[in-house]
Amino acid sequence: MDQIVKLATAQIDRACGVLLGAACGDALGAGYEFGVATPGPEGPRMIGGGLGDFAPGEWTDDTSMLFPIAEVAATKADLRTTDALDAIARRFREWYDGGPADVGIQTSSVLDRAGTKPTAETMTRVAAELHQRTGKSGGNGSLMRTAPVALAHLGDPAGLVDAAMKVSALTHYDPRAGEACALWCLGIRHAVVTGELPDLRELIGRLADDAQEFWTDRIDEAEQRDPATFTPNGYVVTALQAAWAVVKTVADVEVCELDNHPVVAGLNAAIAIGNDTDTVAAIAGAMLGARWGASAIPAEWRRVVHGWPGKRAEDLVHLAHLAATKGPGIYGWPSQSGSTTPSGTLAPWSSRTHTTRRSSSRTPPRSARSKTLASPR
Ligand SMILES: [Mg+2]
Repeated sequence: MDQIVKLATAQIDRACGVLLGAACGDALGAGYEFGVATPGPEGPRMIGGGLGDFAPGEWTDDTSMLFPIAEVAATKADLRTTDALDAIARRFREWYDGGPADVGIQTSSVLDRAGTKPTAETMTRVAAELHQRTGKSGGNGSLMRTAPVALAHLGDPAGLVDAAMKVSALTHYDPRAGEACALWCLGIRHAVVTGELPDLRELIGRLADDAQEFWTDRIDEAEQRDPATFTPNGYVVTALQAAWAVVKTVADVEVCELDNHPVVAGLNAAIAIGNDTDTVAAIAGAMLGARWGASAIPAEWRRVVHGWPGKRAEDLVHLAHLAATKGPGIYGWPSQSGSTTPSGTLAPWSSRTHTTRRSSSRTPPRSARSKTLASPR
């Protein structure tokens, strides 16, 4: 897993687009979460505000929890290992200790119970115990942060599935959450490597036998129904369906018929669904970025997007580059990437070169808790 992976320039652009797309979707949707504001006739803007009183361009818990996974992936780690999972667990806690303005109930319950210095084993056990007690751990909180797993395992789809499920299980025991993470990461991997959107049905075969019929039916549904019908979308399955429905909708339209680039049109459509807008847009944004690349993300978004831990768009690009190539990073890009050691295994494409399932699954943001609790929601 520590070999440098040879990627073409366009593949690296798409790998960077995964994290940028997720972060921009998150920051764009933040202002409209659970109907706090309504997009105007020109579509959503990076207005900030929302339930966490975010600054314009500031990302929320979705990207703040994605960031630790990307950091560990950027160290060339195999995300299935205890060391890697422990590092992610510790970093989740560091973020949580900072008093984030927005955190899901499932995630906060696990972090509260796992202690101040959690290991992956502790978090996974606590998450399982919570599920056994409540029967509910299928919120969208692990899917929203899963995208870096795809970058860490571009050359190893079987390892990707295992890693996605292990990282998901740190907080979400429900098998549907792990399956959704694995399926979404397989799709992202396909888009980064090939430059085309995946047929998710072709990837479902990598899931357990008893999950395949379930997901085939859900993907069919997502492609047949209006994206606007996938609300509420706090449940991981509905969130994935909402994101896939908008991605497919923009992909199936000739670009010349869209008012905006497909990345912008897709995120606008994701936020227009409503409910958990930042999370659905973050999930969709990862796939849109994987297909169209970092260069398709509007510069006006890249300039302003930022968030915990005091990072900006260029930091996401740096981590994405490192995670995807297991190479020297953006400062060596592109000439040094993949130039000196055996290639990875990207054949044939490699080149030289919240109650869960509802808004009530979310903890009221700390900074706005009294205001939120006073509202009917
Ligand atoms: Mg959020």
